[in-house]
Amino acid sequence: MKISDIKTPVSSISGIGPQLTKTLAKVNIFTVGDLLQYYPRDYEDRTRKVTFGERGQNGKVHTVAQVVRQEWFGYGRMKTLKLIVTDGTGTAELICFNRAFLEKSLVPGTIITVTGQFFVKYGALQSTAFEAIKHTEYTESEPGKTLDLTSISPKESGVIPIYPLTEGLTQKAISKAITQALSQYAFGIEDEIPAEIIQKRGLLSKQDAIRLIHRPTEISQAAAARQTLAFEELFQFQSVIAKRVFERKGASGVLVSSAPQRESDQKVVDLKTFTDSLSPLQLDFFNSLPFPLTDDQRSVIYEMDAEIDRAYTERERILNQLDRGLPPPTTPSFTMARLLQGDVGSGKTLVSLFLCLRIISWKGQCAFMAPTEILARQHAETTAKLLAPLGVRTAFLTGNLRAKGRNPLLKALKEGDIDIVVGTHALFSSNVEYKDMELAVIDEQHRFGVLQRQAILEKGRVTNRGMTFEPNLLMMSATPIPQSLALTVFGDLDISSIHTMPAGRKPVTTYLVKEGNEINAYEAVRKELDQGHQAYFVYPAIDSDENIKSAERAFTHLRDHIYPQYKCALVHSKVDEEEQVQILNAFRDGAIQVLAATTVIEVGVDVPNATCMVIEQADRFGMAQLHQLRGRVGRGTAQSYCFLIYSKDITETGIERMKALRQSTDGFFIAEQDLKTRGPGELNGTVQAGELGFRIADLSRDMGIMQDARIDALSFISEK
Ligand code: ADP
Ligand code: MG
Repeated sequence: MKISDIKTPVSSISGIGPQLTKTLAKVNIFTVGDLLQYYPRDYEDRTRKVTFGERGQNGKVHTVAQVVRQEWFGYGRMKTLKLIVTDGTGTAELICFNRAFLEKSLVPGTIITVTGQFFVKYGALQSTAFEAIKHTEYTESEPGKTLDLTSISPKESGVIPIYPLTEGLTQKAISKAITQALSQYAFGIEDEIPAEIIQKRGLLSKQDAIRLIHRPTEISQAAAARQTLAFEELFQFQSVIAKRVFERKGASGVLVSSAPQRESDQKVVDLKTFTDSLSPLQLDFFNSLPFPLTDDQRSVIYEMDAEIDRAYTERERILNQLDRGLPPPTTPSFTMARLLQGDVGSGKTLVSLFLCLRIISWKGQCAFMAPTEILARQHAETTAKLLAPLGVRTAFLTGNLRAKGRNPLLKALKEGDIDIVVGTHALFSSNVEYKDMELAVIDEQHRFGVLQRQAILEKGRVTNRGMTFEPNLLMMSATPIPQSLALTVFGDLDISSIHTMPAGRKPVTTYLVKEGNEINAYEAVRKELDQGHQAYFVYPAIDSDENIKSAERAFTHLRDHIYPQYKCALVHSKVDEEEQVQILNAFRDGAIQVLAATTVIEVGVDVPNATCMVIEQADRFGMAQLHQLRGRVGRGTAQSYCFLIYSKDITETGIERMKALRQSTDGFFIAEQDLKTRGPGELNGTVQAGELGFRIADLSRDMGIMQDARIDALSFISEK
């Protein structure tokens, strides 16, 4: 039986009454299967006696002692019992806060196993958090009677599991319940990993793993059990992804995906090969650009063009076969599904436009989605400006569009009179129909949830002569995801990266400024303003109490006291959307020099003349976010500056992150640092660990297991 199929209610276990049943429900334990999968969060190693004389790590003691005498201190309700005990190597004091009842049971002469942490206080070894277990076999012993305490073994030795608790749940109660469950149900729990993989990876059987995770006799057994259970969990997770890859690309896709995707896999394509590969429309665009493409841009366009071509030709071939009465293929038709990552300003948008042109050359339509209205509008403007001269029909669709403009637009989309439509998630609302949407581009993908991603693909999914065809998918992100993590969350996507920045860009110089020294940053910014440049000031909140700096208050201060001679403006999400656009346009046109803002400007704002980014209370932002914000400057040819003003009470890791940002402008490096200092679960915006919902696997320590599980899952699925 699978462990999850053990559906017997916990209340049927002897010793679990209605009260405990209710408490267990609070931690989602309803069945015996749930109970057996309620794993310890830690273990305490009590395999060895540790005397007062020895004291282990963190003052840990596990010894056998005799009560010498009782004392009291404090008065009234504060009156507290103190037990003076000795274990033959030393004397210690047990402070019995709220445990006055021990006076009766632990009378002088009693022999007890004492376990706890002991510290030297006022010259004596003391513990306030200790466990005492009576050795009843010695209750007769008299005070003063000599016993060799050092030769008595402590009780409850071994490895003690420590379970996560909730109100009303004690270690004792949960431990007892699990012991019962193990003795009645642990036999016959089935393995959920194929036998050959268990053998290959040297894992335990599920049954042993469950027993040992709860009742190890040595720490190493608990570790082995954990390894097995984490592997199982990640194997199941990766199997789901492998299945998706298989469904989309067939066995060959699975093989490709199981190879580690390294940067070196991305080949440099020489200019001639590249231009020869372009469609006439793409070539027109290429020739219209005032600058050369970077090597990385060329190679990712080349790679993805080939995939789009393959998607089209494969579909043609399949439809042809069907027309001739041949049976449909057993594997689905190939489509591109890629994540394109590259720093802000590395030219991803441009790459996506090349791909749109490829699709249009094949007579398909493209949908280009951005997370905010402002960003969508900017993309729509750029797209129209760059592509309309080539005869490409572009449109802009948002939720705000009134029926008068909207209806003709929807009609045109449906009839195929629009080649590229740019918009927000409105692009995929139910009343929008496409004639033939073949490519979905998603900008700043980390801002969209997994479900939205799915909805988009469904829009472009068509069934033709009984076969289902998916649209091509290009997701873009300026928040690079470390390779290891990308495999987990986007395991069904291929990844392309742009590492090189367009020529002529100077890396932004970053300064760290401690709170209280803001004026230094303000003065440095003034020099830039005096030279005709512009500046952003970013704050963690719109309006707030004293502790958090608010954009509103800071703006007034900047306008009235710091830069009265310059035009200052304030923008945040509570400002009316039309007004936001007006302010940003005025800033872009140079009519405003100082823009105070919240993170609304994080994406999409492109003002090359802005050379200063001041971020106050920078330690309140995530690293990826700071990097993204910094990417707003350094977009022109002039040297740009970023000032990270950090709080006086910044933490040590906080300072480490600030230093990493000062040291590097490489988003990939920063993402790795972010992962190191925070653990992947917290990676800003990219993954919510809870979303993945692992019971035991922990992405910050189990990446190695994840890789192994992925390889095994992919080969297992493709061999089936
Ligand atoms: P991203 O989307 O990666 O942030 P964009 O595609 O918006 O970057 O490019 C940022 C700016 O750089 C745009 O103004 C774009 O026209 C310009 N750009 C893109 N590629 C190049 C290049 N190869 N050389 C010079 N400028 C480029
Ligand atoms: Mg962009």
